Amino acid sequence: MNCPKCGNVLISKTVKTAASGSIEVDLCETCGGVYFDRGEVNRITKQDADRLSNTHTHGTMHDGTNHCPKCGASLERYWGESVPSDVYVLRCPDCSGTWFSHDELQKFKDAQSAKINYFRTWKIPLSSLSSVLIPGAFCCVDWLNAYRGRPGTQPTTNGNIC
Ligand SMILES: [Zn+2]
Ligand SMILES: [Zn+2]
Repeated sequence: MNCPKCGNVLISKTVKTAASGSIEVDLCETCGGVYFDRGEVNRITKQDADRLSNTHTHGTMHDGTNHCPKCGASLERYWGESVPSDVYVLRCPDCSGTWFSHDELQKFKDAQSAKINYFRTWKIPLSSLSSVLIPGAFCCVDWLNAYRGRPGTQPTTNGNIC
């Protein structure tokens, strides 16, 4: 798998998430970009994102193809209410994987944490959190429970947030 941005080979990295076990991401050690399989970006916290961003190194940048490292489709910029307009997220229209350039992942997680804290403070129902998460296949209940500080509790309004 090659980096869609700089063309270098991505390395597979296991991230032990603070909330729900481990996930595999594909990291570019040259430009610091990270590729997530469908929905997985919702499973990491701000702290996980910070650790990921610290691992990148510099090297020779080549021209990227802007193709999904997993399935080869052309990546498209994702616009949705879960992503602030100044955060640049690329999403694969075929497999729903997401690509974050260096810094963008932290910016996204900052915005996501702020929004979740807002919801918690105002006791807005969990179903509204669809506006926080990038759409994907994973159910994020574990992750949300960790954010809510109630591990193992089944929310009653999880609906179709994932
Ligand atoms: Zn790269
Ligand atoms: Zn894809």
